[in-house]
Amino acid sequence: MFRSKLQFFTNYSTPVFEYTVKADANENLLDYPEDLQILIADILNKSVKDLCFYPEINSQPLKQELAKFYNLKEENFIIGNGSDQIIQIIIQAACDKDDFIFTLYPSFAMYKITADLFDVNHSFIDITQNWEIDVEETVKKIGKNERIKVIFIDTPNNPTGIALDYEKLKMIVKSFPEKLVVIDNAYGEYCDIDYLSLVLQNENVIILKTFSKIGFAGIRCGYAIGNERIIENLHKVKPPYNVNILSQQIAISLLKNFDRLKDNIDTVKNERLRMANALKSFYFVLPSQANFISIVDDEVDYIFDYLKDKKILVKKFDTGFKKLLRITLGKPVDNDIILENLINYKRGKQI
Ligand SMILES: *Cc1c(COP(=O)(O)O)cnc(C)c1O
Repeated sequence: MFRSKLQFFTNYSTPVFEYTVKADANENLLDYPEDLQILIADILNKSVKDLCFYPEINSQPLKQELAKFYNLKEENFIIGNGSDQIIQIIIQAACDKDDFIFTLYPSFAMYKITADLFDVNHSFIDITQNWEIDVEETVKKIGKNERIKVIFIDTPNNPTGIALDYEKLKMIVKSFPEKLVVIDNAYGEYCDIDYLSLVLQNENVIILKTFSKIGFAGIRCGYAIGNERIIENLHKVKPPYNVNILSQQIAISLLKNFDRLKDNIDTVKNERLRMANALKSFYFVLPSQANFISIVDDEVDYIFDYLKDKKILVKKFDTGFKKLLRITLGKPVDNDIILENLINYKRGKQI
């Protein structure tokens, strides 16, 4: 009844157990300011009478708001049911069966999962032993394979949190004017580097953004910014009515009140520094520019189970030569609990 490859296919999943601290999915779990809560409740209330209608087919009003926000044109945007959906749209629009996508390794899991589903192959470059991207090697490797159609660069990277230097990314972009370079900037609000000018100055670049990592993972809304030709082609494969009315309205009001999210973003950035400093005498902490920190440790499996016993949910990764524990930064009180347990784990081992 189903495609035979589904037998071996596993989609994205996460372990489930009872927890008191959730630090596994890079959500922003800080409370929003009360006036923003009221505003959103108000929007939901007002939208009730509109639920009989289909939403705007291409999320037009949200695009208008984004155009204002970025000082660009509506034609520079496509809206997705999460940026996950835009990843799928990009692969569908750019890749024939047996073409390739290219990613960093490690990187966000959905690139490869989505490529697999559409019978698109996957080529990648390993991060170096020093946790750097060797751009010359990357360019060499991509250059050897004509069937690579899309290059996905998540920066800041998930799961390391490391941001790719602007000039290095520019070099990749300039080397392959005929390939689509996707800058996945899901953690952009937590990062000091602004890559937007790469989109505006090059014909082959789009940037992916999302509301998910700044407190609104539940509305499933992400978008891409690119030149009109790219955006027009992506719309050809976008399912109609892909973003519901409630999500569109909430996203519009978030853009209008974006300054109200700033405190939560700043808190996370401050917590990132505090946690990294407190952990660095016990663990090797990667230099994160995202809303999580990742530690490198051979004992990640034990640490994960140790935290699980304390009802703390984090995420672990086996990245080939090293193991990583990715810890989403949350409320300071929750971060304290994680910190204390991570330190206790190491202290316990010393006795
Ligand atoms: C979380 C994440 C996404 C997915 O974002 P959604 O908008 O929730 O689909 C995309 N890319 C990266 C790198 C992520 O970490």
